Amino acid sequence: MSRVALVTGGTRGIGAAVSKALHAAGYRVAATYGGNIEAAKKFNEETGIAVFQWDVGDYDACVEGAAKVEAEIGPVEILVANAGITRDGLFHKMTKDQWSQVIRINLDGLFNITRPVIEGMRARNFGRIIVISSINGHKGQFGQVNYSAAKAGDIGFIKALAQESATKGITCNAISPGYIATEMVQAIPEDVLKAKILPHIPVGRLGQPEEIARAVLFLASDEGGFITGSTLSINGGQYLT
Ligand code: NDP
Repeated sequence: MSRVALVTGGTRGIGAAVSKALHAAGYRVAATYGGNIEAAKKFNEETGIAVFQWDVGDYDACVEGAAKVEAEIGPVEILVANAGITRDGLFHKMTKDQWSQVIRINLDGLFNITRPVIEGMRARNFGRIIVISSINGHKGQFGQVNYSAAKAGDIGFIKALAQESATKGITCNAISPGYIATEMVQAIPEDVLKAKILPHIPVGRLGQPEEIARAVLFLASDEGGFITGSTLSINGGQYLT
């Protein structure tokens, strides 16, 4: 029987590309979403991939949601912790709410969804945990103290967990995308993109969600079994880590 993959935020943007790539490669995929029911419904109709709704910032909801996925699809063997948000603002004007929301979804969310599935992975001696971090977790980003902190936290989490999990056949890795053409980036005004962003990307273009998905596919595969605790930067040469 094919392996089961759970992709958080798997119905839009990078997550949708990851869900589709895993599905096309024969995995049984569960894609979660936060609140955009229309997008999730459309995604499900177009792809046939099962969708589940819960808030990754809510630990109890993650425990309940993961149990539902395991009951309906099977034990989670591949976890792609992709759900993320931004709430940008200069730090000296940043509200506690902007800070907390970003930490809650991007960092607490990683704990919340990994904790309920890791005991099963350990018991079965196999697992793949892949978090979608960000270039900004490495280099920091003006206006994103909250997001940069959360994404750097994701990388520390993965490095520590990789050490604890290696003897149990579980690999833990992070992917750090640069600018990828999703709604998150399409929200940036065209003139800002052309004047301030593209000139800093040596390959001269935004990345595509499928370019992240292909890396996830490799890390999820048996062939990726010797890669753990690593961070793969996919950013068109914008920042060399
Ligand atoms: P999108 O905004 O296009 O999609 C975000 C996904 O996360 C959606 O499926 C959304 O669900 C889900 N989500 C948001 N909040 C929650 C929540 N509270 N609970 C459950 N799911 C939630 O983002 P991208 O595809 O652009 O980004 C995906 C990941 O990649 C994020 O972690 C982001 O930080 C990271 N990243 C993105 C980059 C880019 O250039 N796009 C660059 C570097 C990193 P719903 O549809 O219901 O809203």
